[in-house]
Amino acid sequence: MRNNLSFDEFDLKLKDYAKEHKVPIILDEGLSFLLMLIKAHGAKNILEIGSAIGYSSIKMVKETGASIITLERNIDMYNEAVKNIKDANLEDKIRVIHKDAFDAYEELKNSKFDIIFIDAAKAQYQRFFETYETLLNDKGIIICDNMDFHNLKEDDMNLSRSVRGLVRKLSNFEEWLLNNKNYDTSIYSIGDGVSVSIKKG
Ligand code: SAM
Repeated sequence: MRNNLSFDEFDLKLKDYAKEHKVPIILDEGLSFLLMLIKAHGAKNILEIGSAIGYSSIKMVKETGASIITLERNIDMYNEAVKNIKDANLEDKIRVIHKDAFDAYEELKNSKFDIIFIDAAKAQYQRFFETYETLLNDKGIIICDNMDFHNLKEDDMNLSRSVRGLVRKLSNFEEWLLNNKNYDTSIYSIGDGVSVSIKKG
C-alpha cells in the first residue's frame, strides 16, 4: 500500500470518503456475496460498469486476484478511482476507462469476460446487459446490484415521479431478466438486492 495504511484502514478510508461525499458504493453484504460468486466461479476477467471511487473493484481484486476493467463516465469519480487504485498498488490489475459505458463498447468488443458486474445508472440496466452480454464467456455470469433499489415501491406517492419511474424500470428489467431463456437467473435479497444470471451452455 503506497499510503502506509493497512488494507483495513484503507478500506475504512474509502468507505468514509464515500459516506462524506454521498457516493453510493456496494453494501458489505452484497460485496461478500459478490466475492463468494467470483471465487466459486474461478473468474479471472471481470468487467464492471460503474466504478465510482474504485471501491468495489479494489475489493474484488484484493480478495480474489481477478483482473478488472471498470467503466466510469463521471470525471471526478474517475479521477478518484485512479488515485485509489494507484494507492492500492493495483494499476496492473485494474484498468479504469473514463467513458460512458455505451461509448466504451467499441474499445472492448474483442475482449471476453467471465463476470460482468452492472452497478451504474439503474434506468439503463437492460441496455447495459444487452450491449455487453456478447462479451461474456460461455457459462459466464452477469451480476446486477441494487435490484431492490432501497426497497422503494412504485406506488409510493411520497416519491418523486422520476424515482417512481426508475423503480418501474428496474421492476420491468427484473421481469425481462427472469424470462430471458438464455440465462438462469436468480434474484437475492442480499445487500440492496442482487441478480445473478448464468449464461446457459
Ligand atoms: N461499483 C461501485 C462500488 O460499489 O464501489 C459503485 C458504483 S456507483 C453505484 C454507480 C457509478 O456508475 C457512478 O459513479 C456513475 O457515475 C457511474 N455510471 C452511471 N451510468 C454510467 C454509464 N452509462 N457509463 C459509465 N458509468 C456510469
